[in-house]
Amino acid sequence: MKKIFAFSFLWLLAIYLPVFSQDQKPVIGISSTWGNGVSTSVPSDYVEAVFAAGGVPLVIPVTHDKEILSRTLDCVDAVIMTGGEDIDPLKWYNEEPVPAQGQIAPERDEFDIMLIRMAVERGKPLLGICRGHQMLNVAFGGTLYQDIPSQVKSTGPVKHNQNAPRHYGTHTIIIEEGSLLYQQVGKKEIAVNSFHHQAVKDLAPGFKITARSKDGVVEAIEKTGSGKVFGVQFHPEAFTANGIHTFTGIFEYLVNIAKQGN
Ligand code: MN
Repeated sequence: MKKIFAFSFLWLLAIYLPVFSQDQKPVIGISSTWGNGVSTSVPSDYVEAVFAAGGVPLVIPVTHDKEILSRTLDCVDAVIMTGGEDIDPLKWYNEEPVPAQGQIAPERDEFDIMLIRMAVERGKPLLGICRGHQMLNVAFGGTLYQDIPSQVKSTGPVKHNQNAPRHYGTHTIIIEEGSLLYQQVGKKEIAVNSFHHQAVKDLAPGFKITARSKDGVVEAIEKTGSGKVFGVQFHPEAFTANGIHTFTGIFEYLVNIAKQGN
């Protein structure tokens, strides 16, 4: 009788263990765009990059409803904040807009800020890409250069808005040894793609700069000591989605810490 009991106990373990096992693919929430009658849309490269890294992508619709965002965060193991429009400087860091300001998206600004703050507060791993990386800095009290060509004074200007395929690196970044990005990419110097005219100016408290281009522009940041909140100014998803795995380690890192639970 005792043997039968032990045997059935093992069966129960066999049934329930996979539910708690770390082999399950984690769900990676991806912040979306909104407007012109279209909702919940993201460039396919983000989705493909999550697939390639072994995650389950879940596109998060733009909303300003805290309850909806909170329930959404219950369902995701990590968050990717995507690229896009310029960030409204007047509303979010109290600066008048410069003449070179591009398109701004007030609904997305509000959504991005809410999502970033709620996700980090709940201990979710978070990767910001381009606008998402700038938003991460602004959400925690940092500011931006609104326009690199007219505002950044450097010894040698670098082109940050490339006329080349999206999956092609055009300018160098120098990565801090010991940073999350160094761990993910495994190199101190590497060529990245570049599609931005805004950049981190004053760094948010509690963050550190982990990479710069040769003109001094900030190309990566991370939340000090968190091990799971970080941003990159370039677009690693464009490489991964095109089968070039130079930066796939960034997504694999996110998927792995998402898998470990929050
Ligand atoms: Mn750049």
